Amino acid sequence: MVGEAKQVTELLSVDAATSRILRGIQPLPAETLPLDDALDRVLAADIVSPANVPPFANSSMDGFAVRAADVSGATGDAPARLDVVMDIPAGTAPTGIVGAGQAARIMTGAPLPEGADAVVPVEETDHIYAQDGQAALPPSVQIRRAVRPGDSVRVAGEDIRTGQRVLGAGTLLRPQELGVLAALGYADVAVVRRPVVAIVSTGDELVAANEPLAPGKIRDSNSYTLAGLVRTYGGIALRLPIARDSVEDVRARFREALAARPDIIISSAGVSVGTFDVVRTVLAELGQVDFWRINFRPGKPLAYGQLEGVPFFGLPGNPVSAMVTFDVFVRPMLLRLSQRPDAVPTARARISEPLKSDGRRSYLRVTLTRENGNLVATTTGTQSSGALTSMVLADGLLIVPEGVTEVAAGSELEVRLFRPVGD
Ligand code: AMP
Ligand code: MG
Repeated sequence: MVGEAKQVTELLSVDAATSRILRGIQPLPAETLPLDDALDRVLAADIVSPANVPPFANSSMDGFAVRAADVSGATGDAPARLDVVMDIPAGTAPTGIVGAGQAARIMTGAPLPEGADAVVPVEETDHIYAQDGQAALPPSVQIRRAVRPGDSVRVAGEDIRTGQRVLGAGTLLRPQELGVLAALGYADVAVVRRPVVAIVSTGDELVAANEPLAPGKIRDSNSYTLAGLVRTYGGIALRLPIARDSVEDVRARFREALAARPDIIISSAGVSVGTFDVVRTVLAELGQVDFWRINFRPGKPLAYGQLEGVPFFGLPGNPVSAMVTFDVFVRPMLLRLSQRPDAVPTARARISEPLKSDGRRSYLRVTLTRENGNLVATTTGTQSSGALTSMVLADGLLIVPEGVTEVAAGSELEVRLFRPVGD
């Protein structure tokens, strides 16, 4: 598809840009995975239980299955004596029924035998298990405590009933959800496919992390931060080799990216005024891409559109800007594609210093401390968008809303947290 790359002259708000980006974006189709590979994936369909869990009434204690009525008066001084007619180790089925005046020795998890309606824990009897865990089945047992029907019994379906909707589509699979699926007999599970994101760094000045520097060169850090962000939000990152600032090289890399059939293509750099001609030429040739001026800092124009129908983001080259624009604009699409909840925690914090802003919505790197129970934010010092260590130091991004030019010390603002903050 041949389209025209055009410069949007009006300033787009962050929210308007995000909703344009998300327009028409649907979760990806499902794929089926073994449970072992499904941790941290998103369930693609509701799970309705095909069975009761537990499947049968069973004992929650090691002890004796009895008829509660037979032991209603039992005490330590006046125990009830019952005939032991059966042994029910875990994993076996009862071989008979418990009649009046009778008991069955039963282990935790073993099925409650017919006739019995309660279990007396072994500690409330005169029975002693041998050191090796087993003891010969005694002919009779003394019960030293009364029990009520249902005591120490887990009924069938106590945890999950047949037909119950146990897990909903869109659930993030944690260890406990995997356990529930296993308990229901699912060895495989349908999960939303992970979005594949191709990442291309552009720039004549860039060398790869393992290459020596030459005069005028710097190392490509963006492809690593961006790949890390993609993986953090559940995507599969494909880091492509660096594209030089030539039409041929950028075209070759974008074609290589397209050949991997990605769900999103991201490039960094080469889209700021004066430098984007090369990238712009190729974008116009391979797709439809607009350059958006967004009411937002840090970050120069964001290029957004499609390359042969694949959503494309041209992020700024400055390392902090690349990360922040990813966080604000790419992350929502990744989360939507993988049907993940927007899990980024936020907090309100008081700013410890007065701030000036230029009226654009600004994301400032801050550290957070607790003072008298309140969160206090302090900027990491230089807010240069080239200083990547400010992202290492920062606990989060403080958001100065659009239209605000001065913030007094002590004002409360929202912070997108990089790590949870304690009390
Ligand atoms: P540009 O958007 O091409 O004008 O680049 C803006 C700044 O970001 C320049 O200082 C570039 O050297 C730097 N830069 C561009 N790409 C990368 C990258 N992949 N890794 C680190 N810095 C970069
Ligand atoms: Mg450049």
